[in-house]
Order: sequence, then structure tokens, then C-alpha cells
Amino acid sequence: MFTSQSGLELLQEALQHLDQGFAHLPEAQVALEQERLRPILLEVAQRMRDNYPYAHPLYAGQMLKPPHPIARLAYALAQFVNPNNHALDGGRASSELEKEAVAEIAQMLGWSTHLGHLTSGGTFANLEGLWIAGRLHPGRRILASEQAHYTHQRICSVLQIPFTAVASDEQARMDVAALRHHLEQGDVGTVVVTLGTSSVGAVDPLEQILPLARQHGARVHVDAAYGGYFRLATQLHPTAAAAFAAVPGVDSLAIDPHKHGLQPYGCGCILFRDPAVGHFYRHDSPYTYFSSDQLHLGEISLECSRAGASAVALWATQRMMPLVVGGELGSRLDLGLAAAQDLYAWLRQRPQHWQTLYAPSLDIVVWAPQGTSASQVSDHSQQIFERAAQLDLHLALTQVSDRRVWPQLNWDQPRLTCLRSCLMKPEHQQWLPEICRRLESAL
Ligand SMILES: *Cc1c(COP(=O)(O)O)cnc(C)c1O
Repeated sequence: MFTSQSGLELLQEALQHLDQGFAHLPEAQVALEQERLRPILLEVAQRMRDNYPYAHPLYAGQMLKPPHPIARLAYALAQFVNPNNHALDGGRASSELEKEAVAEIAQMLGWSTHLGHLTSGGTFANLEGLWIAGRLHPGRRILASEQAHYTHQRICSVLQIPFTAVASDEQARMDVAALRHHLEQGDVGTVVVTLGTSSVGAVDPLEQILPLARQHGARVHVDAAYGGYFRLATQLHPTAAAAFAAVPGVDSLAIDPHKHGLQPYGCGCILFRDPAVGHFYRHDSPYTYFSSDQLHLGEISLECSRAGASAVALWATQRMMPLVVGGELGSRLDLGLAAAQDLYAWLRQRPQHWQTLYAPSLDIVVWAPQGTSASQVSDHSQQIFERAAQLDLHLALTQVSDRRVWPQLNWDQPRLTCLRSCLMKPEHQQWLPEICRRLESAL
């Protein structure tokens, strides 16, 4: 059985193996007293106790989960080299591992060609996707649903690309009729399609959007920062499955290994289907690339220095859990889908207490306590959130302004605060009876 203690022993063994690779060098130790480290490290441990217990299944709030042990250990091991994947000069081995890991993600998307690399996160991955979008279609608009991540509008403001939000339907998906209306204006360069919105996990109907965009000469960028790994699930609702099945045809895609890919933070990924977009990245640094004529990742990335350790951790994780449909990673995601369905069914069986607002497409559930007005329900949601936390059940809150999700409610204020739970851990389904018991006590 794996424990954090046995993990540290394994790390020590791997570290010795790594060190042997450099054993021929003359001894060059830096003198540092162990006793100077100890009190500070213990102080850090003390300070870090002030966190929600993200790793525990009773943490069922925000989109947060611990990295897989193999990712954590591989990251820690790589830290003893601290490679920089900007150039092969700074991280030869880890750059190779990055290229291999990213190629496996491209394969998961069903792409036979690709250009891509890791980024610091989904924000930067989307930034690069939209930067290329703007270079290919200068002056033309970028569209995303009003439920898309707020980052797209901000990125467009950074890039100075005109942005328009497209209306969504009552399930928080992009409204295809509204999209058609925008496309018919003839000035749209790129449509951003979200597969898994951050707030409710809605999946835009990519299979309908893609042909429509093509018909109007627009590109399609997919924001799958949160939802991308659901390509590997087998238990998706047919509506969501149809959207994920259309991914091979899109132009670019952002995915966050640091969300469902079980990685430490600092690991996003941008992929383009057409490798030719690489020429937009071209730059002329006089001092960076000398060790090899092979591709240095800094030649196809906007960020310069990047943690090689992120690539090492991701590669190791994919080695352990290959990105194949129905594999170990996919089964974990299926358990999350089941947990969300179970919680949804449990809430629906108690209409006297709870109101559900969306049928979950992925592993996020959004609901509220029963009530008659938006202000009253919002206050009650807030109270339940706080009481549940006192019972060690950690939920999240979200705000909804679409009145269609609860037409009978008296909307005496524009926004309704609701409860939200990301059931991202494979243990969540097993813990659901306990989660529901505590939720009931917090009512
Ligand atoms: C998380 C998320 C982002 C932002 O990614 P970061 O990794 O937090 O920078 C963008 N879009 C969606 C859909 C997300 O879920």
C-alpha cells in the first residue's frame, strides 16, 4: 500500500539513482546547516494548516483536488534538477518528456497532426489559442458563450480583438440560433466552444457549432481547460458525448492537466491541429538556443521559462495511466459523473427541501434550498455553506442570473446565490451518503 512515508522512501531511492548520473563530477557540496531549515519548515507546516482539506472526500467544493502521488513524486524528483523547458539547453530530458506527453494528449483528441506545449495553466493556454486566432483573422471578432470563462473577454482585451458574448440556453450551453445570427454578420474569425463550463459543467454543442462555423469561414477554438479529459470517460450523457466526439475537427484546444489530469498547479496545455501556425511564434533570440538544431519548446511558446518539472510529472502520470478511453483515468472520471448523478437524484427526491437548477452534464452539481424569493434563497444558501463547513463538509457557492432555471421564484434581486459541488474525486461517489447526511444537517 502506498503511504506518504513509503512515497518519500521511493523518492529517496529515485533521487540516488538520479544522482548517480552525475557521480563522475568532482564533489561540490554547498554547506548548509540542517538546523537552519527545520524551524522554518515546521513554521511552514503550521501556516499551511490554514487550508481547506482539499484532499479529503468531504471537500466537495471548488474545482480542487490533490495531484496523483506519482505526479507529486516525479515533480519533487525533477526539482532536484530544476529543468527549464524553454530551451533544450535548460531541460533536455524534460523537453523530450514534454513533447511525448503532449503528443499523447493530441492523440487523445484524435489528431493525426499537432503543434502544442504545456503552459502555466488554462489562462495562458487560451491566450495562445486566441492570439493565433487573431493573427489568422486580423480584425475579425471572437465569440464565446456568455457562460464561457471570463478569461476570454479579458484575453481579447489584452490582444485587442473585438469580443462578443453569445446567449446561452437554459442548460447554460451556447445557443446555436444566437450563434448563427452572429456568424451571419460575416465578421467572425473564431468561435470559442466550452466543453465543461467552470461554473456548472455545461457542454456547448460542438457537433452543431463546428459545421456552422465552417460554413461561415470561422475557426473553432475549444476551451476544455476543465472538461477535456472527459474524452476518456465512457458514461457521458449522449448529448455531451456528441460534443466530445466532435473534438477531432476543431482548430485548437486548451486543456488543464492541473485540473482533471491530476497534476500539481502550473500545468496547462495548448494544442493546434495545424502545425503550420508555429511560424507565428518565430523569434530571433541571439543567446538562447545552441545545444541542438532540434525544436526548442521556447520557439513555439509565448512563455519563456517554464517548469520542466511539470512535464516530468505529467509524463510519469500518463505512463501510469495512459490516456485511453475506459482506462484508469477515464474510470475515475466516470465515478465523478456517477457521483454527480447520484447527488442530483438525491436532491430531486427531496423537492420539499431542495431545488436543482441544471441537470449535471459532467461532475458539477448546482442546487439551492427551497424558497420563494431570490434574496431569501441566497441568504439560506450562504448559511448552509457556512454550517456545512462547520460540519467538515466543504461546498462552494455560485451565482446564477438566468431566470429560466427557476421560473417560479420571485427574482427580487438580479443574482441568485446557489450551492455548487465539484465531485472530482473518485472517492466522492462512495462518500455521497455521508455528504448527503451532513448536507441535511446543515439545512
Ligand atoms: C479553469 C478554467 C480556465 C482558466 O484556467 P487556469 O488554469 O485557472 O488558468 C479557463 N477556462 C475554463 C473552462 C476553466 O475551467
